[in-house]
Amino acid sequence: METVDCVVAGAGVVGLAVARALALAGREVLILDAAEGIGTETSSRNSEVIHAGIYYPAGSLMARSCVAGRRLLYAYCAEKGVPHRNCGKLIAATNAQEDAMLAGIKRRAEANGVEGMQVLTAAEATALEPHLNCTSALLSASTGIIDSHAFMLALQGDAENAGAMPVFHSPVERGRRVSGGIEIDVGGAEPMSLRCRLLVNSAGLHAPGFAQRIEGIPADRVPGSYYAKGNYFTLAGRSPFSRLIYPVPVPGGLGVHLTIDLGGQARFGPDVEWIDTIDYTVDPHRADGFYAAVRKYWPALKDGALQPGYAGIRPKIVPKGAPAQDFVVQGSQTHGVPGLINLFGIESPGLTAALAIAEHVLEVAATG
Ligand SMILES: Cc1cc2nc3c(=O)[nH]c(=O)nc-3n(C[C@H](O)[C@H](O)[C@H](O)COP(=O)(O)OP(=O)(O)OC[C@H]3O[C@@H](n4cnc5c(N)ncnc54)[C@H](O)[C@@H]3O)c2cc1C
Repeated sequence: METVDCVVAGAGVVGLAVARALALAGREVLILDAAEGIGTETSSRNSEVIHAGIYYPAGSLMARSCVAGRRLLYAYCAEKGVPHRNCGKLIAATNAQEDAMLAGIKRRAEANGVEGMQVLTAAEATALEPHLNCTSALLSASTGIIDSHAFMLALQGDAENAGAMPVFHSPVERGRRVSGGIEIDVGGAEPMSLRCRLLVNSAGLHAPGFAQRIEGIPADRVPGSYYAKGNYFTLAGRSPFSRLIYPVPVPGGLGVHLTIDLGGQARFGPDVEWIDTIDYTVDPHRADGFYAAVRKYWPALKDGALQPGYAGIRPKIVPKGAPAQDFVVQGSQTHGVPGLINLFGIESPGLTAALAIAEHVLEVAATG
């Protein structure tokens, strides 16, 4: 049976970043993905925002990897020519209660190491964004936007140049612990089994299900798998804003916000719709909930201006109503299978954090 040093299961942005880091560290890497190419799931169904790291609990892996990942990402984009823009973001308060919340959000961001946060008066905010309705706003100068596919192509290129090999149409179906590593069964048109010393489970929405099919992991170490869909609606015509515009967060979510892509197209979302099976259809009726939310900070939004866009699905590991979970990077000290690293719950800000998550995976690989 063939033996390779490392297998990364999943060629989303996180799997690609991990594969690149392993290959640059001199390891032999095989990237296996069930789909026909890179980034066909969550990595191409998100807001493409380079997050600052504002809202995550201090000290959490989300907070640390977002802030560190963002700094690495801006440097990487500049070095590799990945299209991006450090456009900034405004969190718009629209009443006295929300005005009072901005200072707390700024404090939390600064505790996470986020630089460039500034509370603005309504006049200062509308000087930046004339169409904005607000009573005050919080400017996040380090937020930006990125071409996520170009980022993934750059990661894939780096990984391949360092010797990694991606193989598509190759679902990793099962695994079992063997002496010196893990044996995996790969399905697809040409099924095969192979052995590896390190297996990184970076299968996104499917990571918990895949972990359940690896013999030797105690069942209680594999979290549940839940889907929280985020629907987007796009705006006909050019964006009235040049920065990202967010409302003050509501319990359980960031609220319906406006993001822009590098082409200047504006989209609103993602909302939160808990679903049982993977389904990316956007129900046009959900637009009703968007109009009122958006008009709080952009009253000029015209009836009929929103078109169903696309949807992404957050790979949740706790059900609706449960306290939010941190990213989980799980090594053998937790699950007892040497050479296996599981990545669970890598939802937002996973795109921003990918380069830092990859560094963390290397540390976990080194310590077991
Ligand atoms: C609605 C939404 C908006 C978001 N917005 C942002 C944002 O603006 N900024 C940000 O930083 N983050 C954002 N995120 C988070 C970010 O998109 C994810 O964290 C990131 O894309 C996760 O990448 P991944 O590689 O872990 O997973 P995925 O991209 O899902 O990749 C998993 C891969 O594994 C493959 N796979 C699955 N099972 C197997 C198997 N058994 N064998 C082999 N391959 C397999 C799949 O084909 C897929 O290619 C958002 C997420 C959502 C849902």
